[in-house]
Amino acid sequence: MRVYDIIERKKLGKELTKKEIKYIVDGYVKSEIPDYQVSALLMAIYFKGMSPEETFNLTKAMIESGDTVDLSKINGIKVDKHSTGGVGDKTSLVLLPLMASFGLKVSKMSGRGLGHTGGTIDKLESIEGFNVNLTREKMFRIVNKVGFAIAGQTGNLVPADKKLYSLRDVTATVDNISLIASSIMSKKIAGGANYILLDVKVGSGAFMEELEDAIKLSKEMVEIGSRFNKKTYAVLTNMDQPLGNKIGNALEVKEAIETLKNEGPNDFTNLCKYLNAVMLKMVGIVDNVEEGIKKTTELLKTSAPFDKFKEFVKMQQGDVTVVEDLDKLPKSVNILEVKSEKTGYIESINAKDVGISAMMTGAGRENKESELDYSAGIILVKKVGNKVDKGDTIAYVHSNKSNSKEIIQKIKSSFKISKESVEKLPIIYGYVDTEGYHEYK
Ligand code: URA
Repeated sequence: MRVYDIIERKKLGKELTKKEIKYIVDGYVKSEIPDYQVSALLMAIYFKGMSPEETFNLTKAMIESGDTVDLSKINGIKVDKHSTGGVGDKTSLVLLPLMASFGLKVSKMSGRGLGHTGGTIDKLESIEGFNVNLTREKMFRIVNKVGFAIAGQTGNLVPADKKLYSLRDVTATVDNISLIASSIMSKKIAGGANYILLDVKVGSGAFMEELEDAIKLSKEMVEIGSRFNKKTYAVLTNMDQPLGNKIGNALEVKEAIETLKNEGPNDFTNLCKYLNAVMLKMVGIVDNVEEGIKKTTELLKTSAPFDKFKEFVKMQQGDVTVVEDLDKLPKSVNILEVKSEKTGYIESINAKDVGISAMMTGAGRENKESELDYSAGIILVKKVGNKVDKGDTIAYVHSNKSNSKEIIQKIKSSFKISKESVEKLPIIYGYVDTEGYHEYK
């Protein structure tokens, strides 16, 4: 087999065989095939696409490139969730306690943030003492006791994705549906859960800007899941503006806890309710999503989700008094107002630019070595559809740095203000299962 011939065949739009795909993935992981040939193949895939069979074979070869997690030591219904990423996305911090309150088990491996998107691990580390370095055994013990645990990546899970993703990142080949689907699903399937809930973000702050593309991606992922005997649902949600009001590590922990106490912002609370409801339907606890929403709404009126979160923080050695008294979370020295220069209605808030602004405060990493400032970030006071008068505060910048003027300017330019009234954005579009797309009404 010659790599050249495989690239040539894909360039001409031919379907690659299972053997060819495996040969490329294995050879690349072992560094026997150079970056430049895999780059050329990725670009050919980008332009010619992959059939569902090729995408399945790519996912399989990627899973086989490393270890898989055996969750048999966890009792009960084992579920996992994944978000395709966005700005202000602290969903795991709320959804996991909700799912655990219904008896589901989640052993979640999460990542750190890079660039304009945050990472769950960084957020949790803003709680004094919180330990994200768990052995598998310890993690399983916590999951069996509390219902969920969150740790950094351990073991040699899908090494092919680490190499391929880095290469895609620098060769402009990230935004291809087959490549995204195989990347996400290889990691989820290797993670061992039987039920997988995907939160596919749609909009200007997401990989998929159009709903139609996001539905296509979701259908591919659901199909891959079902071919591996994993029940998979994909929820489609809006990322045309940041999620919730707070962006930044400690700020997002605060907003997540407020939401667990049923005092969170509407968009974020509704998203968490819907995701939990779809999960409850997927595992058969409820018959339909509406019933799941009702049950989750009732649960949020009780202290159970917040108690679960506290139990989880304690088991992972975090300081529970921080969770009980949010004033103990890291705080920035400077809190600066961003004021509207116009009167009108918020038409859009560019999520990516707000994410970059948060990174500039120190809430995110510019490169892998950057030090984080857990206290830093942005609070949005106004969201799409809100009315503003000239001089009104639209956001706050929390920062310990001296570049605040530049950040304030960037945030101002990420807000578009219209003279006409603007409708609020829907947060949920619907979900995809093996039967197709179900619009949320
Ligand atoms: N998230 C992933 O893990 N992989 C992709 O390719 C895109 C988003």
